[in-house]
Amino acid sequence: LWKWLRKKSESSVKIKPDPLTRNPDIVWDSMRPEQNYQKITPLDPETPISDECVRFVCISDTHTFIENKPSYFLPDGDVLLHAGDITNEGQIKKLVEFNDYLGKLSYKHKVVIAGNHDITLDTDMIQKDPESAMLNFGIICELLKQYSVKQTKDLFTNCTYLQDSGVQLYGINIYGSPWQPVFRDWAFNLRRGEEILKKWDKIPNNTDILITHGPPLGYGDEVGHHGSGHVGCVELLNTVQKRVHPKYHVFGHIHEGYGVTSDGETTFINASFVNRLFLPVNSPIVFDYPLPNGY
Ligand code: 5GP
Ligand code: MN
Ligand code: MN
Ligand code: MN
Repeated sequence: LWKWLRKKSESSVKIKPDPLTRNPDIVWDSMRPEQNYQKITPLDPETPISDECVRFVCISDTHTFIENKPSYFLPDGDVLLHAGDITNEGQIKKLVEFNDYLGKLSYKHKVVIAGNHDITLDTDMIQKDPESAMLNFGIICELLKQYSVKQTKDLFTNCTYLQDSGVQLYGINIYGSPWQPVFRDWAFNLRRGEEILKKWDKIPNNTDILITHGPPLGYGDEVGHHGSGHVGCVELLNTVQKRVHPKYHVFGHIHEGYGVTSDGETTFINASFVNRLFLPVNSPIVFDYPLPNGY
């Protein structure tokens, strides 16, 4: 009954932008005392997989490292989740290599989102800046023609690519979104506050596993260079904690924030593969999701 009542009230929850959203570190200081913040020891990937669970393998920010080095070990599982920054500059060739690599992996499902480095997937950005050196629209179109596809995302034939969209696997609702607060001027950047909240407002209430490129405020979002402190999205944390309540929230982007934390309700997984020096040093993070009734 309690769950049903919450579901009912959730649907009418409207998150408001935080007036201090541009100062996430200050917002976190004021929120921290009421947060049930915990560090979590991730599941050992060697744990045998039970028939009653779906094993998810999370990775993010691979920045072209995994597909070129097949010796990198990815643990067994049913579903691979990638939280963006597949490439360094969205090169079409790199996206094709990544897709080929995914084709060789034995996971039953692979779910992928873009990050701020995967610039050729941001069609608005390509069209806004058609002449920029990195993003020459004409060259991108020519390359896509070579691969017989119309859009960059159509290159992903070996995975489910999510961009403000969802997929249901084994009765589990997964939703993915690439946006992050403006930092320099890379892809899928939006201003903190109302602008980015519009994207978070699209996340359905019944999301069980949320994938975003960037972290929410306070959980796996602390930077060690380009400044210091918490840089996660305030509106994303409020959406997660006050409306969506997913079981898992998987992201990357802030490489230094690698690891697992929890607020007592949602498990937050920063699965960055590279560290702040862009060296591929971190392990994929796995979790087991109980199969819903009937699956
Ligand atoms: P990437 O360039 O791969 O998206 O992010 C790499 C690194 O840039 C992160 O690990 C973090 O150190 C830094 N970074 C990314 N976004 C932000 C941000 O919004 N604020 C700050 N201060 N650093 C960021
Ligand atoms: Mn990255
Ligand atoms: Mn919910
Ligand atoms: Mn990033």
